[in-house]
Amino acid sequence: MPLSGVDIHFECTRCGNCCRNSRLALTIAEAETWLDDGHDVQVLCEATPWLTDPAHADAIAQHRLRRSFSAASGELPLRIVVILAANLVGACPNLGPDDLCRIHARRPLVCRIYPAEINPFVALVPGNKGCPAEAWKSDLPILQRAGRIVDARLATTSAGHARPTPQTSAPSGGCARSSKSEMRQSPTKAFAHTASVASRCCAN
Ligand code: SF4
Ligand code: SF4
Repeated sequence: MPLSGVDIHFECTRCGNCCRNSRLALTIAEAETWLDDGHDVQVLCEATPWLTDPAHADAIAQHRLRRSFSAASGELPLRIVVILAANLVGACPNLGPDDLCRIHARRPLVCRIYPAEINPFVALVPGNKGCPAEAWKSDLPILQRAGRIVDARLATTSAGHARPTPQTSAPSGGCARSSKSEMRQSPTKAFAHTASVASRCCAN
């Protein structure tokens, strides 16, 4: 059920669920760094038949148009979306034994914004996230109001990731598990869950 009209409260419990069994969408620069660190990067491609360009008012289709390139399968025109991703089977290689991120200062943008969505057309649904129930209690700080992320810097970072734009400064929101000195009490990675794998990679 869309929750665009409902306040969503959130505070990270530092459970570490979002750093396990996920797929992290990476910018090109992040993918290069991920490879430099000795980890694998997946290249995911999604083809969509594209007979005509969408109307300007079709924001979802315009979004897909912006982040894709044209191709053809025989006579059939296509748009291709390419996603670079780190596939986490088990714990992220950057997750320390204390469940804290060992690359906090340079962690991927998608890690910074979780549980916010990177696709502006995908509604944030707490039940689709790896965060435990106690992270969404109504007496916690507001993460989203009227369908919009409250923290302006988090929203900007999220939008920036949807159109992979390298950023270097961390928003005030984002997953609170970090180095001990940077643990925050305010909110704040993307995607739909598959059967048992919480994917943070969205081709929409
Ligand atoms: S926050 Fe750090 S440990 Fe967690 S998934 Fe991102 S890079 Fe890995
Ligand atoms: S962002 Fe959610 S899943 Fe990740 S550590 Fe915090 S509460 Fe757990």
